[in-house]
Amino acid sequence: RMIFADRMNRLGSETAFEMLAKANVLEAQGREIIHLEIGEPDFPTLPNIIEKGMECLRAGMTKYTPSSGLLEARQAVADYAGKKRGYEIDPQEVVMTAGGKPIMFYAILATVNPGDEVIYPNPGFPIYESVIKFVGGVPVPIPLREENEFRMDIQEFKSLVTDKTKMVIINSPQNPTGGMLTKEDYQEIADFLADRNIVILSDEIYENVVYEEPSFSISSLPHMREKTIILNGFSKTYAMTGWRAGYGIMPKEAAQQIGKLVVNSTSCLAGFTQMACIEALTGPQDEVLRRAEQFRIRRDRIVDGLNAISGVTCLKPRGAFYVFPNIKAFGKTSKEMAEYLLNEAGVATLWGSSFGEYGEGYLRISYANSLENLEKAVSQIDIALKKL
Ligand code: PLP
Repeated sequence: RMIFADRMNRLGSETAFEMLAKANVLEAQGREIIHLEIGEPDFPTLPNIIEKGMECLRAGMTKYTPSSGLLEARQAVADYAGKKRGYEIDPQEVVMTAGGKPIMFYAILATVNPGDEVIYPNPGFPIYESVIKFVGGVPVPIPLREENEFRMDIQEFKSLVTDKTKMVIINSPQNPTGGMLTKEDYQEIADFLADRNIVILSDEIYENVVYEEPSFSISSLPHMREKTIILNGFSKTYAMTGWRAGYGIMPKEAAQQIGKLVVNSTSCLAGFTQMACIEALTGPQDEVLRRAEQFRIRRDRIVDGLNAISGVTCLKPRGAFYVFPNIKAFGKTSKEMAEYLLNEAGVATLWGSSFGEYGEGYLRISYANSLENLEKAVSQIDIALKKL
């Protein structure tokens, strides 16, 4: 029998894949399931991006690239991201990775020692806590509450910072709640962290899926760049989840450290993928806006639909493509509720507690699906909940 390293016991997972497997079992039995558990755009990758990747493959771009990425890809990211954030970025501050997710892993691995505390949003993307534990760090959840529109309470945040705090993770627009920090929140966080030696991991993967105001990066505030590792990528903005393409933006010395982790793990992101990424960033951007408008229409529809169900309340999120309705009135745990809705309504959702203990009492519903399916799902959920 193979014996595994102790650290494996500290590694978590993502329940989206668990729910998908359960839904697939029902589908194999002939049930029709509406998939609202998946965190990826239902749109295809744009043809010009696909064409660029294919063209590069045909031209023989099938070899290793430099580990932190092709210079022209790093430059394209630096130009694009610098323009958005209002400061100049050097390509040496950019590391290309296989999705944004590795930046999470690498950033924590590169900065957090055993015993160091890391403050992270809860409910939040489950991989933060998983990796913090994996490296022996101490996870310190900051609750995101519905009454505060799922933004962290800044006073509470300040009270959680100790002399052991090594890193703070922020994610705005946020998965799973769709919440967004305000400019004032960022300013207060920045003022508080200015004199502290704390790394900020800023997960900006949903930066282009926003409905009320443009997204903002804490790195744009004075003295924050030196402390910040930005996680971003192509999955959500350009509907490229399966390409596995992302990047980090960080001070040069951090890029060198994280570059070492790339060398020690994946070597590099596929060259033709990097070329497709350049095309995504430099090609026409109107479709990005059009898709955000589609998401807005769906958001409004599902929020209205859910709020019309007796016992369900749902805030209107400002970004990302998830809603996080409150289902506390039914007296079931969120996991029981997600399982009930899968079996009874044929709708796959994720239970709020899979995003942390403060997500209990809620469901995460992805509206990256057609309006027709969203309406059908709401009506089937309504019928199922009336039976309780
Ligand atoms: N960060 C958040 C908050 C996410 O929701 C996701 C994907 O679901 C990622 C990062 C990682 O995305 P990818 O690795 O596809 O770039």
